[in-house]
Amino acid sequence: MSAELVLKTIKEKQIEWVDFRFADLSGRAHHITLPAKEVDEDTFVNGVAFDGSSIPGFRGIEESDMVMMPDHGSIYVDPFTAHKTLNVFCDIFTPDGERYERDPRSIAVRAEEYLKESGIGTAAFFAPESEFFIFDDVRYESGMNKTYYSVDSEEANWNTGRSEEGGNSGFKIPVKGGYVPVAPMDKQQDIRSEMCRLLEEAGIRVERHHHEVATAGQAEINFRFDTLTKTADNLMIYKYIVHNTAAQYGKTATFMPKPLFGDNGSGMHVHQSIFNGDTPLFYEKGAYANLSEMALHYIGGILYHAPALIAFTNPSTNSFKRLVPGYEAPVNLVYSKGNRSAAVRIPVAAVTPKGCRIEFRTPDSTANPYLAFSAMLMAGLDGIKRKIDPTKEGYGPFDKNIYELSDAEKGEIRSVPGSLDEALNALEADYEFLTEGGVFTKEFIDNFVDLKRAEARSVAIRVHPYEFGLYYDL
Ligand code: GLU
Ligand code: MG
Ligand code: MG
Repeated sequence: MSAELVLKTIKEKQIEWVDFRFADLSGRAHHITLPAKEVDEDTFVNGVAFDGSSIPGFRGIEESDMVMMPDHGSIYVDPFTAHKTLNVFCDIFTPDGERYERDPRSIAVRAEEYLKESGIGTAAFFAPESEFFIFDDVRYESGMNKTYYSVDSEEANWNTGRSEEGGNSGFKIPVKGGYVPVAPMDKQQDIRSEMCRLLEEAGIRVERHHHEVATAGQAEINFRFDTLTKTADNLMIYKYIVHNTAAQYGKTATFMPKPLFGDNGSGMHVHQSIFNGDTPLFYEKGAYANLSEMALHYIGGILYHAPALIAFTNPSTNSFKRLVPGYEAPVNLVYSKGNRSAAVRIPVAAVTPKGCRIEFRTPDSTANPYLAFSAMLMAGLDGIKRKIDPTKEGYGPFDKNIYELSDAEKGEIRSVPGSLDEALNALEADYEFLTEGGVFTKEFIDNFVDLKRAEARSVAIRVHPYEFGLYYDL
């Protein structure tokens, strides 16, 4: 936790405020802001105190004092504040100087240490493809006391109030017809370019952006891979910039996995690989999809633990409305090269030994990136340690479009859990791969499950507008 870089940056960039940030269990960012002149070497020794009892899922009121310890590794100048502000990521510590076991970022740091200790490799690289929608505005009422029926995406267009912006131009993207059309179909090129410009300014290397498959407004921006914690930090910055750029344009951006019934949802496919120093460990020329045995075992671990893993990679009730057949989101726990209906895809086009990687397509952006990346790494490492061979366990390779197979043809193919509750059940039954090396603790997992069960229950007890269509006239 070197103070030097931060203090130098404050001086050089004439920073007025320093914003200390951390992510809660759900991945929401929180911040406390200090005048830059109050930040010195001591800030890096003593940290910044906050009340942990007011953060959902953190400490009880009786032991509420917590400390944010700044990490110089991910700092950037906030592009949205009127007063020049430096944003600094923090790890959370108890007042006794211990890493707080419920701090997601501390878990990510531990997961990376565990990889090194395991002797398997020196670094795991991650690259998320976090899709999102840009809407004009969203009209929802928390009480849901309006009796409209959101039964298909046409009506959903109405619900989100965005279908006729500026009148009907005649250039409308149909449902599932949004993959990379030029303007005037694509009305969001400039807003995406602006997001990318700000990402670059914040130190994140953008690779490309495009309109995604769903009807008007679905977007994807890809940025360069990096190590686990660093990529999770980058994803936090990414979401912050996407949300706030949209707001500056008078719009709203959402990473919710399935805002529109009947159209593609938004995923967060995660590309991953392991290196030993400069040597990529997932590549073997000539093998299936040029995958090494280690990569195969990593896939085996991901697929074997997937039902439990999904509690961290898809931790919302809405997540499971995306994981249905027909929308390029995976349903089946198999791997394949190229095939987008498989949970694990191996990109093969123009891939070099260093670029050789696996893509887990199940996750979505309601995941806390620190927890989700750590859990995926732990599942993959368990696969490597136990030599879980996916070809022997019925996970493929499967190169056909699985959506189109009959039930009989599908045979033994396993599916993702059907609901958040099912995923939480799976996590309760299969968590030991996560607690290896003390990366996650059992207490952390129990607390996470409690929090998410309460969330699922809060959704389940509410009256859904669609129920009026089904039951009103009975
Ligand atoms: N939007 C799709 C999903 O829900 C993915 C489309 C793609 O392959 O990029 O995962
Ligand atoms: Mg995509
Ligand atoms: Mg992808």
